[in-house]
Amino acid sequence: MSHDAQSHGSCLCGGVKVTLPKKLTDVGVCHCDMCRRWTSGPWMALQCPNATIEGETLTIFKSSSFAERGFCRACGSAIFHRPIGGQELAISAGLFDQSDFVIEREIFFERKPPYYRFEAESEKKTSLALAFEWGPKLLWRQLKRIAGR
Ligand SMILES: [Zn+2]
Ligand SMILES: [Zn+2]
Repeated sequence: MSHDAQSHGSCLCGGVKVTLPKKLTDVGVCHCDMCRRWTSGPWMALQCPNATIEGETLTIFKSSSFAERGFCRACGSAIFHRPIGGQELAISAGLFDQSDFVIEREIFFERKPPYYRFEAESEKKTSLALAFEWGPKLLWRQLKRIAGR
C-alpha cells in the first residue's frame, strides 16, 4: 500500500506526529495577540479538518471560550488550533518539512505589529470581517450545544 499522497509532520522532539490525508501548500497566517504570544511570531497554519494527530505528549489547552489549542508538553511546539465543537482544524505549518508553502491569507491583519510584514500577495482579513464571518456560526453552535443538553 502506498502512502505517497499523505503528508507527515512532527513536533520538535518527535513526540507528536501529524498526518494529513494529502499534501497541502495553502498557508494561513494569524496575527492575533494570542497566536503571537503562543509562538513568538505570527502563527502559520494549514487548514485540514481530517488530519490525524497522535502522540503521548500532545496536550490540549482551552485557550478561549470558543477554541482550544494543542501543543507538545515535552518540547513546547505549537500543534493545532480548533474551535470547540467545530471542524475547522488548523495545524502548524512549521511541523512539515516543505519549502513550497504559499501564504494565501492573513487574518487579524489590523492587529499585526509594525515590526514585521510578509511579501506574499495574500488575502487580508481584519477582526471585523472575521466577526461577521464567524459570529453567526459560533452562536449557532452554542445554541445547538445548549439545546442538546
Ligand atoms: Zn515535542
Ligand atoms: Zn490567532
